[in-house]
Formats: sequence, C-alpha cells, structure tokens
Amino acid sequence: MANFFRKKRENGAEKPFFTEDFARDLEHKLDAGKASEFSSFITKTDSKNISKLSLVSDVRKTLEYIPSTPEREMFLDEKIIADYVNEFYSKYLPKKAPEVKQILEHKHPYFIDSDGNSHVNFVYATKDNAGSYVGHRGRNSCLDFRVTWDDSLDSLRVAAHEMAHALSSHNQNYAKLFRSDASQAEIDEYSRKNFERDGIIEIESLIVESLFNRFLQAKGLYSENDVQNYKNGQKDSLLSETTLITEEQEILKDLERPVTAENLNDLLKNLRASRQANLIERLDKMNSDKKDSSYMFRYVVGRVVADEWMQKFENADSHEKTEMLDKFQDYLDTTHAQTIDGACMAVLDMDFSQVMQNYTNRGRDFTTNKQSQITQDSRDFSKF
Ligand SMILES: [Zn+2]
Repeated sequence: MANFFRKKRENGAEKPFFTEDFARDLEHKLDAGKASEFSSFITKTDSKNISKLSLVSDVRKTLEYIPSTPEREMFLDEKIIADYVNEFYSKYLPKKAPEVKQILEHKHPYFIDSDGNSHVNFVYATKDNAGSYVGHRGRNSCLDFRVTWDDSLDSLRVAAHEMAHALSSHNQNYAKLFRSDASQAEIDEYSRKNFERDGIIEIESLIVESLFNRFLQAKGLYSENDVQNYKNGQKDSLLSETTLITEEQEILKDLERPVTAENLNDLLKNLRASRQANLIERLDKMNSDKKDSSYMFRYVVGRVVADEWMQKFENADSHEKTEMLDKFQDYLDTTHAQTIDGACMAVLDMDFSQVMQNYTNRGRDFTTNKQSQITQDSRDFSKF
C-alpha cells in the first residue's frame, strides 16, 4: 500500500518550480526576440476591429492533424536539380528565368563576394548540416544561397523555394545597400527586426512551392495524391505554427516583465488552477524552443496566402492565370517595399484580413460536423 501511495504522489507530483536561471534565460530570450513589440503588433486591431492574432486563431480552429507521408526517393545531383529549377522558372515565371540561370551558373553578381568567390552552394544533406537558406553576409557584401539536398523529390522543391528567396528584392536589397554608399545607420535600419517586412518573406517561396507541384504533375513526377499529401503536410505545419503563436501569446498576455521566478510560478499556479495543461507545457518549452511566435508568423502568412493564391489560380482561365503569374513576378521585384496588407493586395487583390477570413471560411465549409465544433471553440477563444 505504501508503494501505491508513493507512486501516486510521484505521478501527481508538481513539476519543479521555475528557477531564477530559467526566468533570466526567458527574459533574455523574450527581450532579444522583441517579444513585447511582437505582441503589440499581432494584437493591434485594424479599422474593422480585427487583430492578426484573432485571424491566426480562427485559422487554427479549422485545422486538424492529417498524417502525411515522406516524399518519394529520387536520384539527384546538383545538375539534375539545377535543370529542373531552370525548366520550372522558364515555364512558369519566364521573366525571372534569365536571373535564375545566372544564379545557378554562379554568375549572378549579388552571389559573388568581393574576392570573386561564388556563394551558391548545393550540399548533400547529413543530419548535422541540414538546412537550406538565402541570407546575406554583410562583410563580404554578398548573398548566400545554400541548398542541402538528399535523394528525395522534396529537395527539388526546396531548391525552387530558396530560388524564390534569391530572386526577392528584399534579399537583393541587402546586397544593393552594402554595395552603395549607404551609411551604417541605413544598413542597420534595414537589418532591424521589422514585423511587417519579416511577416511577408515566406509568401514568395510558398507560392513557388505550390506552382512547382503543378510543374511536377505536368512532368509526370507527381500525382493528384502526391499534391494532396503535400497539402496535408502544409496543414499540419500550419496547425503547429498557429498553435504555438496562440499559446505563446496567451502566456505572454499574463506574464509580467521582467520575468522572475516568482511571477513564473504565480502564472504556473493559475494555469494549473484553470487546468490549462497545454499552456503549462508551452511555458515550459519557451526557453528551449528555437522558434518563437514572430518566426512562426511568417510561415502562417506564407502558407495561407499561397493556399489562397493557388486556389484562385486553379479556378482561373488561361488569361487570368497569365495575369496572376505576371503580377507575382512583379511582386518579386517589390518585396522590399511591402507591408503585409500591401503584399496581399499585390498578389491577391485583397488585404490580409480578407485572405485569412477566406481561408478560414473554406476550412469551415469542409464538413458541417466540424462547423459546430468551431462555433463552440469561437466562444472559448473570444478573449483574443
Ligand atoms: Zn523560406
């Protein structure tokens, strides 16, 4: 009997209290990530009294986890990847094709440093080096293009995704700034965290991903099922991202700053009393999680805009399709100057809240059963 009770106490034992070390690390992390500024940004209401956070929360309520399977294997090397990417851009985004070719041939000036070295790299992925990106290296005044690939079809799409970032005027503006006689203050100003600008940076790449799926279908490399599998994966990611954002913002709303062990433990007590186990778990992970709300927000924006864009594209006639592709290519030239609403207007002729509401409404139409559950949830989340 004694054993039974001890076991029970252990199982129901309270987690160790948050320590001062944990509090200090969290305060540092929130401060570095400008968490308070992001909270103000995402909870600010527009002229229709809608906040971005409420839009994110509504999108989340339409999502459920649908398992997806890994992409099929495919033998690749740098040349095969480059051939597919070149072919895709020349078929779908021909205005950008010459620049794509130039980047892949290591001849694009923005990807060559002041010593003449190319920074376009395709690297075979291992578990230690996985990660593809386009970034800027200020010291050598150039952009970095890096794709880690393995023998899966997904690597092809990743290369097309990164190419969209490479073409984006947002990234190219860095190289321009470094090479102009811009002052350090101007460069710092452009490099500063900017939630409007950061919020749109996955739109370009995720629209390209969806278009690339059509290309794969046309090449006979992808079936309708494969596209559905891709969409399930996108929804699954969107579910994790919107959950992280809504939970983190819920915590930050009640977390006093600067963070101390005392106010963390007070918050923990309240969360336990209201049985919000998901928020306790989120709070516990906030130090170790590499991604925060502001990082996830750009993927939410990108996935929703890309999904709406593709929905419109699939229903468009060939004249409208050409028009949409033209607009998108022009958009790539103006990303550096866009706000979130501006980007949505440029690619979809709608502002951000309309795009998010469209996505939510489409999700709600999915099943009537789901509909009643959403109405129920809406009441629970009215505090957003
Ligand atoms: Zn990206």
